[in-house]
Amino acid sequence: MRYIHYGGGQLAVPSDCIFAQPYRVRARCATDSSGRRAGSKKDMGGSGNGITGGRDRAKLARVGNVDFIVIGAGSAGCVLAERLSADGRTRVLVLEAGGSDERFWIKTPIGYGRTFADARVNWKYQALASPGLNGRDMYWPRGRVVGGSSSINALVYCRGMPGDFDDWRALGNAGWGWDDVRPYFERSERRVDAAGHARTAGPLDVKDVAPLLHPMGAQWRAAAAELGLPTTDDFNGPAPEGLGSYQINVRDGRRCSAADAFLRPALRRGQVQLQTGAWVRKIIIESGRARGVEYEQGGRPQRVLAEREVILCAGAVNSPQLLQLSGIGPGPRLAALGITPLVDNAAVGAHLQDHLAVVYSFKATRPTLNDELASPLGQLRAGLRYLLTRSGPLALSVNQFGGFARARPGATRPDMQLYFNPVTYGAGDARRTRIALDRFSGFYICFQPTRPTSEGRIDAISPDFRAAPRIAPNYLATARDCEDVVHGGRLLQALARTRALRELIREPLGPDLTSMDDAALLADFRARAATVYHPVGTCRMGSDPADSVVDAALRVRGVENLRVVDASVFPTVTSANTHAPTLMVAQKGADLILQR
Ligand SMILES: Cc1cc2nc3c(=O)[nH]c(=O)nc-3n(C[C@H](O)[C@H](O)[C@H](O)COP(=O)(O)OP(=O)(O)OC[C@H]3O[C@@H](n4cnc5c(N)ncnc54)[C@H](O)[C@@H]3O)c2cc1C
Repeated sequence: MRYIHYGGGQLAVPSDCIFAQPYRVRARCATDSSGRRAGSKKDMGGSGNGITGGRDRAKLARVGNVDFIVIGAGSAGCVLAERLSADGRTRVLVLEAGGSDERFWIKTPIGYGRTFADARVNWKYQALASPGLNGRDMYWPRGRVVGGSSSINALVYCRGMPGDFDDWRALGNAGWGWDDVRPYFERSERRVDAAGHARTAGPLDVKDVAPLLHPMGAQWRAAAAELGLPTTDDFNGPAPEGLGSYQINVRDGRRCSAADAFLRPALRRGQVQLQTGAWVRKIIIESGRARGVEYEQGGRPQRVLAEREVILCAGAVNSPQLLQLSGIGPGPRLAALGITPLVDNAAVGAHLQDHLAVVYSFKATRPTLNDELASPLGQLRAGLRYLLTRSGPLALSVNQFGGFARARPGATRPDMQLYFNPVTYGAGDARRTRIALDRFSGFYICFQPTRPTSEGRIDAISPDFRAAPRIAPNYLATARDCEDVVHGGRLLQALARTRALRELIREPLGPDLTSMDDAALLADFRARAATVYHPVGTCRMGSDPADSVVDAALRVRGVENLRVVDASVFPTVTSANTHAPTLMVAQKGADLILQR
């Protein structure tokens, strides 16, 4: 059991505190210790956004009533803040437990390795042991900062496969099939092609960085050709299947998080108020209706009411926890914790799904990013290049190449996601609580079954909101998932045995993929596989009231004026990385809330 205490509350305001006026609330601008007004242009970093950094020592302003309260300024919460306030009249209050995202290592794409276990921006959860993984527990990073996990993620933007969403509709979620949801992906995206030309006009940069990637990418495509696997130039295009390179969320060499794309423009408009260091402890529910929330900020309890709705966007770990703390969840379990059950629903916290992957690393016959970045001199050179030109390896994701392929014989759609990266992190930290590059040339390949069937749970363990929830992923618990691991291992092995990749391999680091049989592949996966940070489903959307938390309009069953809009509502995990579909859920969620 671990308790996280968060001190230093902070009030973040747009530069001119304009939000006070439309709210008819006399908001005080925060000042720093020198008496300078926080939120002045000087405080705003490069983007002039109104999300201030530093510690606020000023008295907190009172929060007036608002139309919508959004809990969590993560991927989904940022979209909602923007969409719900777009009419220029609707007042939205966003409450975020973490602090400002104005940090060098958040803005710098390669900084992923630095924020990965930084308690200043990360909840740093620990998931319980899974029997399917030889009883191993696991580190689970989650963003606790403005932008949420989109501020600390690996920047890969993949919508997933069209079939993922047709699955959602087939499960009884009307309006969530591929044809229904595709416009909501498009609404977010500003697609920037390899030549740097914007092809679409959404707020979130989705950049094709292929020409900037490591030359080893040619080997990856050649390996695909040897095996007769398709290649693709666009995992988010009409033909997403195949091997290729990842598109990423960067703008001018800096991370383009959900906060950059959605929240900052909304804050500048003035109808959105963001409170950071505002840790929500409970949703206030009276007579079956969500009225507002209680939160703690700077060690002081606060209470705010919503005139229209409360929207829970705290992510797949914290949304079920907060529902349970508010009395919505498995009745007997809540009662045992001393929480009065208001809605008895065992699905709250259930149906947890996540992607697991295993990495095979090799010493390389050619220079890789390790050579450029592992030594202090290399870091200095790359750092200068980045600072002067906003280019080079620091401006890119750690993930460069990969793809979606069919591993199981007879598969009708991709069942494996692959990674091929010109780096190795080595065995420096087997528990993966930090990322440090090796000092020799190296690369890795990796596979991740796309649609695992194992399910776990996330539950509150105490009525105290500061107590980290119990995360029981129950990985690799089904025969189907074990079979997928063997198929994925065989596919990766075939790739490693191609002439194109053999040319790159000096020697394996750790287990030798190329010589493993089926049993060895499964045993190795049980021994070494780790999360790729895609938990979903803990407040899942569904048509069966007994086995879902929200309906197809994302309304929480049994409580009026309360919705969950984030990765926790996924009915099933999608085939690829989960940021893009979370944004899609929020875009559609906004239309549902606004009844469009
Ligand atoms: C290390 C890492 C790497 C990843 N890499 C990728 C990738 O490359 N590509 C990809 O597509 N996906 C990636 N993901 C996953 C992706 O980022 C998430 O699926 C997505 O951001 C989830 O969005 P969300 O809105 O559901 O939750 P989040 O973005 O996590 O937002 C939840 C927010 O709620 C806040 N919050 C929680 N509880 C409270 C409370 N009680 N009171 C107030 N605020 C609260 C949190 O602090 C957080 O800001 C990665 C995730 C991680 C952690």
